[in-house]
Amino acid sequence: MDRIGLPEEGRARDDVLAEIALMQREDVDWKAGRAWSLVYHVDDELLRLLEAAYSMALLDNGLSGSAFPSLERMERDVSAMTADLLHGGGAVCGNVTSGGSESILLALKTVRDRAVASPFAPQRPEVVLPRSAHPAFNKAAHYLGIRPIRVEVDSEMRADVPAMEAALGPNTILVVGSAPSYPHGVIDPIADLANIATQRNVMLHVDACVGGLLLPFARDLGREIPPFDFAVEGVTSMSADLHKYGYAAKGASVVLYRDADVYRYQPFEFDGWPGGRYSAPNVAGTRPGGAVAAAWAAFHFLGRAGYVDLTRRALEASDRLIAGITAIEDLRLLGAPVVTLLAFAADGAREAAIAGQLLQRGWRVSVQSEPASLHLTVTAGHLNVVDDFLRDLEWAVEGAKREPDRLAPVAYN
Ligand SMILES: *Cc1c(COP(=O)(O)O)cnc(C)c1O
Repeated sequence: MDRIGLPEEGRARDDVLAEIALMQREDVDWKAGRAWSLVYHVDDELLRLLEAAYSMALLDNGLSGSAFPSLERMERDVSAMTADLLHGGGAVCGNVTSGGSESILLALKTVRDRAVASPFAPQRPEVVLPRSAHPAFNKAAHYLGIRPIRVEVDSEMRADVPAMEAALGPNTILVVGSAPSYPHGVIDPIADLANIATQRNVMLHVDACVGGLLLPFARDLGREIPPFDFAVEGVTSMSADLHKYGYAAKGASVVLYRDADVYRYQPFEFDGWPGGRYSAPNVAGTRPGGAVAAAWAAFHFLGRAGYVDLTRRALEASDRLIAGITAIEDLRLLGAPVVTLLAFAADGAREAAIAGQLLQRGWRVSVQSEPASLHLTVTAGHLNVVDDFLRDLEWAVEGAKREPDRLAPVAYN
């Protein structure tokens, strides 16, 4: 790392902010719809609301509900509303976390601790998941000493239920399904996974990080969405990110459990230091109040009608992209995406070369592997740029043939 000392003297406020803005000029231009992942943006009006709400709780600390009953209340509201969208009955418990990865880590920790406390505690607990599940599961398993077993998906990129069943063993504590999966936007057969999990008496986590605030509204719009949430008996926990299709500020997700009997294994309590009884529901100690306030503001500003409308716009953008991509001769869609996460492959040019061309025009698409494809996360804000993107995509496919070595990196992020 470079050695950089703290400036001796401070600088003027405008000077400091101007330098940040200067650095940001190198960033992907998500306000102009150029980012096809990472940022979920609608428009200036919502952005201003998130800013205002976030700054109202900028220094507030969600570690203490007694000092900040406002945060406790807002956290309870957004957790309960998310649970309600996901058919959680009155028994469902959960809370806000810093993101999908923390929600997933906590879900695995909770299930592990519950398993360890049982008289049939496995030697080395295992989690069985489809190959398309998010890397956060492997990360969590690595942290927690759980063995992850990834199982190949079927030809439609969905969890292969018989293969998953075959992977279950005496040490399995958890089965995972995604609704939808990030790479291909397909929903795993959650009801079938619930059947095998229930039969073996293991838990089932549904990762709705990307779908939790999208699929319920897509269903309102008449899309065919198979049961994927707590409506399915046997789903024991779920994750849903507010900072994705909840269109909230970064740092907000919800983890949910079917009942308190599972949730009670999540919080950590400690008394063996001089600082007083310490208790934290999450991995984080100090927790940013702003992220909770911004999520609460988004829920109340948009309401169900607002989310349905944003989902309608994202789906329209997505449908037009699918039609446009399919119409470009060398491109074909992978799987049959149910909502707004699209993957497409190319014949005659490498995907990474197409992404490399697109980058020259400011578009940032991710390059996936096995099978090679390009990935788009389509949001409501993208509706304005569909035609521009498709025009540049066609240009990029040709450009990739001329310049096959100008590659974008193969990466999720
Ligand atoms: C984004 C995502 C995650 C991880 O969430 P972070 O907020 O990035 O930590 C997990 N699962 C799925 C399906 C996701 O799309």
